[in-house]
Amino acid sequence: MTSATLPEQSPTPIAAPVVELRDISISFPGVKALDGVDFRLLPGEVHALMGENGAGKSTLIKALTGVYGVDSGTIRVRGTEQVFSGPGAAQQAGIATVYQEVNLCPNLTVAENIMLGREPLRWGRVDRRGVRRRATELLARLNLAIDPDSVLDEHPLAIQQLVAIARAVDLDAAVLILDEPTSSLDADEVRELFRVIRGLRQDGVAVLFVSHFLDQVYEIADRTTILRNGKLVGEYEIASLPQLEMVAKMIGHELAVLTDLDRQPPTDVADLPDTPVLEAVGLGRAGAIAPADLLLRSGEVLGLAGLLGSGRTELARLLFGADHADSGTVTVARRPVRLRSPVDAIAERIAFCSEDRKGQGIIGDLTVRENILLAAQARRGWARRIPRRSADELVERWITALDIRPSDPDALTRNLSGGNQQKVLLARWLLTEPRLLILDEPTRGIDVGAKAQIQKLVVDLAHDGMAVLFISAELEEVLRLSDRVAVLRDRRKVAELPRAAASMGQVLELIAQRPTSPGGGAPDGV
Ligand code: ADP
Ligand code: MG
Repeated sequence: MTSATLPEQSPTPIAAPVVELRDISISFPGVKALDGVDFRLLPGEVHALMGENGAGKSTLIKALTGVYGVDSGTIRVRGTEQVFSGPGAAQQAGIATVYQEVNLCPNLTVAENIMLGREPLRWGRVDRRGVRRRATELLARLNLAIDPDSVLDEHPLAIQQLVAIARAVDLDAAVLILDEPTSSLDADEVRELFRVIRGLRQDGVAVLFVSHFLDQVYEIADRTTILRNGKLVGEYEIASLPQLEMVAKMIGHELAVLTDLDRQPPTDVADLPDTPVLEAVGLGRAGAIAPADLLLRSGEVLGLAGLLGSGRTELARLLFGADHADSGTVTVARRPVRLRSPVDAIAERIAFCSEDRKGQGIIGDLTVRENILLAAQARRGWARRIPRRSADELVERWITALDIRPSDPDALTRNLSGGNQQKVLLARWLLTEPRLLILDEPTRGIDVGAKAQIQKLVVDLAHDGMAVLFISAELEEVLRLSDRVAVLRDRRKVAELPRAAASMGQVLELIAQRPTSPGGGAPDGV
């Protein structure tokens, strides 16, 4: 892949790490959850472990807390190599963990919970006053005004979590690990938690936490490690990593590679209707899609019809350089090009709105404005900020043009409906002024109103001279929007029809390779 996937390291000189993971790999059947990951945690730092769902964060934490053994690699705690036999061993080594579900005993008192399982004894019996005294000390250490004699159950979850922290750090903890500690807390509760975390940092405890809230990460963390697809992306000082850049590193794919891209797009071709924008001859990839010819013209929508698994997305990914073709040639505006990565495709002004808008596109925790500007900003390079005024104008224009609701550029994107999120993703790519727009299932799972608007947009964009590759499982939609329809079956392009010739029945026949029933009903799954 590109240099964007190489691990980067913060240049700062570093105190001896309290925890050091080297070259850790852990596999589950069919997936390498961690692939040669290095990780360092320093004494007295708050460290955020970041990455998208499935990046490997929880797996790393479980390796560190002795829940999972590692397939290869080493774990050192305070300089000593450790092979944890289980969570107890990790705890003994000074690693304390508080999981999302606080697992304490609701009907015991706060003091009893803090000391559970390690009560001081006196004359061979539990020393109740000792329990109370030690618990009170621990609460005081964290500056927590919680009555040690109150029953745990009486407290809201946030307080229970703080009690769990008090309990966890009592064991000579050098490291406190919190997996998504703030996901169910309100603003005041988060403030209280952060106060406790800062206190622990002051005492030299290393705090490692996972959170999906970027603002909180920027508020509390000193450093961060970013994972993507089980691999280390890099280790950074929070203060020198802009939020958008962090996001680009997390989601990688088309956007992270964009950070490498600071070239000007090639000079414009005459965007006249019917100009060939992209021509692929014999383009294919073994196991994914048999060699196929495709012509995408300015001012035209080419639809891809086929069942799930017929090779639609695979073909689109070749055109975007997301996967490597192993046969065929591609010309863009009549010049031969090699699409080795999305960087190459984007430089040729090819845009790809992926099918998986959650996984590969929209970042819920960024505002609508930030999401829209992401690709354009990345393309310019992070060092050259889009001036605020022109950024505002662009965002405003696209919010209006696509009727994004709410129309507030500062709204958090996760609070938008699926249809509006899809429009935000479209706006992001339209802002880069593509000449070929690849849309993979742009209307799936969104409300009918937004769906109609997106369909209209596709037609309008083509009318204004863009070439569009439109992929949808809904044949009706493909037929209605496309000027030509390419039909895929079993990972092979089997036909291409001009719209006039493309009747529903005919396309279904090609897809299914069997005559449609006399009634013309669609086979299942189309
Ligand atoms: P994150 O916490 O960053 O969302 P995880 O560490 O939970 O990511 O998962 C990393 C990858 O490993 C994912 O592809 C996930 O499906 C897989 N995985 C995690 N735990 C297991 C498990 N116990 N069995 C099988 N696969 C797992
Ligand atoms: Mg997780």
